[in-house]
Amino acid sequence: MATKQIRTPADLAIHGAPPAFEAPLHVGRPNLCNRDAFLARVGSILDNQWLTNNGPVVQEFEERIARYLGVKHCVAMCNGTIALEIAIRALGLQGEVIVPSWTFVATAHALYWQGITPVFADIDPATHNLDPAAVRRMITPRTTGIIGVHVWGRAAPIDALQAIADEHGLKLMFDAAHAFGSSYRGQSIGRFGACEVFSFHATKAFNTMEGGAVTTNDDTLADALRLMRNFGFKGYDNVVHPGTNGKMIEVCAAMGLANLDGFDAIVKANTRNHAAYKAALAGIPGVRLLDYDPAERNSHHYIVAEIGPDCPASRDAIVAALHAENVLARKYFWPGCHGMQPYRDLFPHAGLVLPQTERVASEVVVLPNGFAANETVISTIASTIKTLAEYLTK
Ligand SMILES: *Cc1c(COP(=O)(O)O)cnc(C)c1O
Repeated sequence: MATKQIRTPADLAIHGAPPAFEAPLHVGRPNLCNRDAFLARVGSILDNQWLTNNGPVVQEFEERIARYLGVKHCVAMCNGTIALEIAIRALGLQGEVIVPSWTFVATAHALYWQGITPVFADIDPATHNLDPAAVRRMITPRTTGIIGVHVWGRAAPIDALQAIADEHGLKLMFDAAHAFGSSYRGQSIGRFGACEVFSFHATKAFNTMEGGAVTTNDDTLADALRLMRNFGFKGYDNVVHPGTNGKMIEVCAAMGLANLDGFDAIVKANTRNHAAYKAALAGIPGVRLLDYDPAERNSHHYIVAEIGPDCPASRDAIVAALHAENVLARKYFWPGCHGMQPYRDLFPHAGLVLPQTERVASEVVVLPNGFAANETVISTIASTIKTLAEYLTK
């Protein structure tokens, strides 16, 4: 990955020079740890011929994750979206459920897919997480629950949301897809609300290729989740509940066990990269890198820059310049769920009550991280942004 001279838009237009990076640098390139440990486990799975249906590797994975997070139950699932859907159903949510629009669209889809209306509440622009006052404003007689999202792995305002839920008799659960390894007031994410839902998709800090889990301290809820994950089967030939197929396969659990052993190394690389980005982007007017609270744990997986009005280059111009260098920076979660279908047609005026979401959505760019990022990558990305900003200042 040789770095070349950083080009201004004028250079680009005239010379059409090749990009700084020969191979595309993706946001969310999978972190792979302990390849040999993974392959050895896959060998045993093939030898045992137990490929799925709550096999021994999934059981070991669930035990390890529950212990790691300090929560009583971990119910592993085939992906985070199905885990959300099953959790929503196990909690008996219906009618309207309040969610942020500033999240990956799966949070809203998991509700809509089962005939529940996602009602979007605005965020606190400082944290990118739900604003409790905005949540209160969206409660109606049809509201049955709240799904908080720990955006970028930074905990949602858990205590304030729990207070609102208790006051109004609402269920509270969390989409913790970003928050594996994060803490809230020193305690691991995974034990808050009625339950929390993780995604272990390949792009997440900790991955099982595809995968997810619901974690809870509630025994009854855990039983319901396990039933629903497996068609409602209780023993052979005995279906006691409606259910679906949400099972994690053995190979995915094997990937998870290998990556769990390497998770500290992932966090270490991410944390170092975050500091390097911070130093490299410092001094570019209007560019602000989102910080992580040093008092809490966070995987530092998301390198989130906000391009404010003081920056001579727009967010979209910066994304275009980075893409021209083969850096596939992303505008997560632009334009917000309320700008995506079917929600854009359902709530054409949602933007009126989501001013902070709209502003944040127009300013955010997420940059590559993980084992794929290093000093050279980071300084090239920063130079690209700096060169563009300087070029547009003149
Ligand atoms: C990734 C993600 C999901 C979906 O998880 P999958 O495992 O990809 O189905 C849900 N919510 C958020 C916030 C996510 O980032």
